[in-house]
Amino acid sequence: MKKILATLATLTLAAAAQAYPDKPISIVVPFAAGGPTDKVARDLAVALSKHLKGQSIVIDNVGGAGGTLGAAKVAKAAPDGYTLLVHHIGMATSPALYRKMPYDTLGDFEYLGMINDVPMTLVGRSTLPANTFPELVKWLESNKGKINLANAGLGAASHLCGLLFQQSVKIDMTTVPYKGTAPAMTDLLGGQVDIMCDQTTNTSGQIEAGKVKAFAVTSPKRLTTPALAKLPTLDESGMKGFNVGIWHGMYAPKGTPKAVQEQLNAALRAALKDADFVKKQEALGAVVMTDARTGQAEHKKFVEAEIAKWGPVIKAAGQYAD
Ligand code: ASP
Repeated sequence: MKKILATLATLTLAAAAQAYPDKPISIVVPFAAGGPTDKVARDLAVALSKHLKGQSIVIDNVGGAGGTLGAAKVAKAAPDGYTLLVHHIGMATSPALYRKMPYDTLGDFEYLGMINDVPMTLVGRSTLPANTFPELVKWLESNKGKINLANAGLGAASHLCGLLFQQSVKIDMTTVPYKGTAPAMTDLLGGQVDIMCDQTTNTSGQIEAGKVKAFAVTSPKRLTTPALAKLPTLDESGMKGFNVGIWHGMYAPKGTPKAVQEQLNAALRAALKDADFVKKQEALGAVVMTDARTGQAEHKKFVEAEIAKWGPVIKAAGQYAD
């Protein structure tokens, strides 16, 4: 009897996997619409759908608390392959930034593979009197106590980058949290906040159009995207060793059937080779992943390494949220 039940269960799972997906899939983006994580997820959804029987993929923006609210929603969702998460480096930095986490980063998700690497830029409102990085530092020094630094909440990439920047420049700033860097960018464009660190996928268009001032890139090497190539690195600007790079990955709730996970990983790998997706990403300064990190086990291993890397750095910076 036990054997028959086990065989039946295996057959049911196999049938479910074969039918998958037979209804729309929802991808939770843990930040506001129109921002960099949202842009990656929306472009990816188009490419991904082609390899998932053309099923529609709907983006569900659940911003707030630096990405932890959206990630928590997916951690608690039914593990059936119809609720997925696209998240960035915050998967690895939030556990150190929050005293209490609403989910277990390594225990509550299936790792489906990584998507891209995206550099960050330090940008400021167009009305700032500074035009170069040294001029920005002078302006910051003479405006202590009055500087507003926008971010997407504690745990976000912009928070991490801003935190390390304040530490390097040795000036404390007032952080203004948003549900994502799309609304933060709106306020930067309107001059309500002064500076922000954000992915090139959100800043390159505004930099090119001259709507924000760009002071530096946070990667250890200068970028090759023409509009950004002239920007110095923070490392070469005197902030030795400054290196914050964003990566994105895709996740499903723990317990999603293995066959469905494998289908999603195969679809993801195929989407990462989609010429249209690659072209769009490259134009925004992002590098689509082609290495081993697109594998499920390698993705999880990489996040584990990132948790180990950022934990001590964040603890040394002494910033926590409850
Ligand atoms: N760039 C944001 C961050 O700071 C997230 C977003 O809005 O996509 O983490």
